Amino acid sequence: MPGEPQDDCLFCKIVAGQIPATIVRETETTIAFRDINPQAPTHVLVIPKVHYRDAASLAAAEPVITADVLREAQAVADEDKLESYRIVFNTGAGAGQTVWHAHAHVLGGRGLQWPPG
Ligand code: 5GP
Ligand code: ZN
Repeated sequence: MPGEPQDDCLFCKIVAGQIPATIVRETETTIAFRDINPQAPTHVLVIPKVHYRDAASLAAAEPVITADVLREAQAVADEDKLESYRIVFNTGAGAGQTVWHAHAHVLGGRGLQWPPG
């Protein structure tokens, strides 16, 4: 069921505390933790605690929690003192999505090229 924890989902396991992560922020609805394979000095993933396969599915079902994710992305940037940063929601395998639990990448701390690759 969308919104319910999935047994085979890595990020649901991080939410449940079954897999360790370097958690930088937590709210009632979200957690933020450092990416295991950082692509920038700051590379934090902000995820909803509820399971949806991608950002659009989350937004359709849980608009308030989607806003929480975006607010937390800003909070991560503030904590790491980033003036500029990028939020990325890879959606679909062709765009590089590998974990099917909605997540925002927060990237910063170096120059970021536009357009991205
Ligand atoms: P995606 O490729 O789906 O947009 O992003 C998934 C991200 O999760 C990747 O950047 C990857 O490095 C990160 N990741 C995968 N496994 C783990 C893990 O066990 N712990 C953490 N902290 N990050 C992970
Ligand atoms: Zn999940």
